Amino acid sequence: QDFSGGAAFVGGAYVPASEARISVLDWGFTRSDVTYDVVHVRDGGFFRLADHLDRFERSLAAMRLAPPHDRAGIATIVARCVALSGLRDAYVAMICTRGRPRVFGSRRPADCDNAFVAYAIPWIDVIPPAVQERGAHLHIASIPRVGAASVDPTVKNYQWGDLTRGLLEAHDQGADTAVLLDAEGFVTEGPGFNVFTVRDGVVSTPDRGSLEGITRWSVLELCEEIGLPARIAPLRREDLLQADEMFCTTTAGGVMPVSRVGGHIMANDRPGPVSTRLKSLYWEKHAAGWHRTPVNYADADHP
Ligand code: PMP
Repeated sequence: QDFSGGAAFVGGAYVPASEARISVLDWGFTRSDVTYDVVHVRDGGFFRLADHLDRFERSLAAMRLAPPHDRAGIATIVARCVALSGLRDAYVAMICTRGRPRVFGSRRPADCDNAFVAYAIPWIDVIPPAVQERGAHLHIASIPRVGAASVDPTVKNYQWGDLTRGLLEAHDQGADTAVLLDAEGFVTEGPGFNVFTVRDGVVSTPDRGSLEGITRWSVLELCEEIGLPARIAPLRREDLLQADEMFCTTTAGGVMPVSRVGGHIMANDRPGPVSTRLKSLYWEKHAAGWHRTPVNYADADHP
């Protein structure tokens, strides 16, 4: 079997990622009744694996999902997916779906056997590297983020209807991606990333409507380390339109500079100095082994 394009674990077996299949009767597919987490591997090591497993466990509990593997089992499975793929830089997903009802036709979530799927595929940048270099152009979506009382934004979920509509709108307008406001007009996040602004030397990230991104926390830690004032605060459209700089953060790309938001051009239409500094520092720290769990590639010999 050729795992070089990525390796998946599905139905209790390891298969090439391109061959991994789930049932059309799985509620993950028919109802977006699923939670997940994504951790990256850089240069042969996981970044903050324990933090991703913690967040996955919190998401599972919030959604009352129970995969057939415990934390240690999940850690073993994701590591083996990476080892089988041989990838040194990878996007690694762990996913738990509601599964299929044991009783045909049942509408009771409790009747479903929750299913666990994982895979390791080649590295993905949510914003392509060339776009990061010039600074991403963000559209401020007209679609509000779904209410937090309906879909808890701190639980990682695939209920992406609003984010996808924002993204389509962005692409229609020639922007790279979107940022969504909530129904009250507060800035939340974008499709696959948290957002930050920089104004008068102060770094800010929204206090609501967004995932507690692990890259976001990592950046707040870096700010503290280098003495850059940073705060978690309510942000409005005006804060975006008055920002000196802006950047996005995600597991799938790290710190990604933005040069335009809602038509507002920042830092001479280039990645700003604070964003650039944080981006460099983020990768320098990786190279120095920051929160790194090495992958045992020899594990691939005994699938
Ligand atoms: N918000 C959303 C909606 C996301 O999908 C992601 C990507 N996981 C993030 C924020 C960033 O979170 P993290 O830094 O943990 O990847």
